[in-house]
Amino acid sequence: MNKLYFYYGAMGSSKTAQALMCRFNYMQKGFNVFLFKPVIDRRTVKDGKAIVGSRIGLSAKAIEFDALDDFKTLANLYKIDQNFERNVIIIDECQFLTRSQVEGLKLLSFHLPVLCYGLLTNYKTELFEGSKRLVEIADKIQEIKSVCDCGRKATVNARIVNGKIAQSGEEILIGDSEYKSMCYKCYLKKLQTNEDINKPNDVTIF
Ligand SMILES: [Zn+2]
Repeated sequence: MNKLYFYYGAMGSSKTAQALMCRFNYMQKGFNVFLFKPVIDRRTVKDGKAIVGSRIGLSAKAIEFDALDDFKTLANLYKIDQNFERNVIIIDECQFLTRSQVEGLKLLSFHLPVLCYGLLTNYKTELFEGSKRLVEIADKIQEIKSVCDCGRKATVNARIVNGKIAQSGEEILIGDSEYKSMCYKCYLKKLQTNEDINKPNDVTIF
């Protein structure tokens, strides 16, 4: 279906793996999949080529974009607009899209499926710019669930600095080790007590 989809989840919720499985699915059916990722995420640049890789081992080459790119131009550059019927756009780490890029993708989604995968909120539990606009104008929004250490649903992407939850700093700081997904209750507990992140929570206090 030609729609704008937003699949969001906390870190470690297999968003990228699901993006890559979706890509595989479309390719098996003979569609051309254009996989995009923000240039801001340099974790997986391999031999100069951008790679979208998941923690369970799936990976694929991707087209990088930065905040200045607009998707109408990219669709033209990669000839996506020459055969809308057989083309699909998938965006990984879509939280880094700008508001206007999401609006550009919305226009493209009138012609072909556009599937966006990413985080909903930053380490301060606030919406990313791209995610906010996706929530506002996507046709379909779906959560990809993952669990906190305590067993509840993880919704917060806490940034960890020296074992403690950070409350200030830049919004964008790429890298797995500095983040931990957790439920809001565990997040609050660690924040209020300033406890080391690796000390298990006594969840019975809630
Ligand atoms: Zn928890």
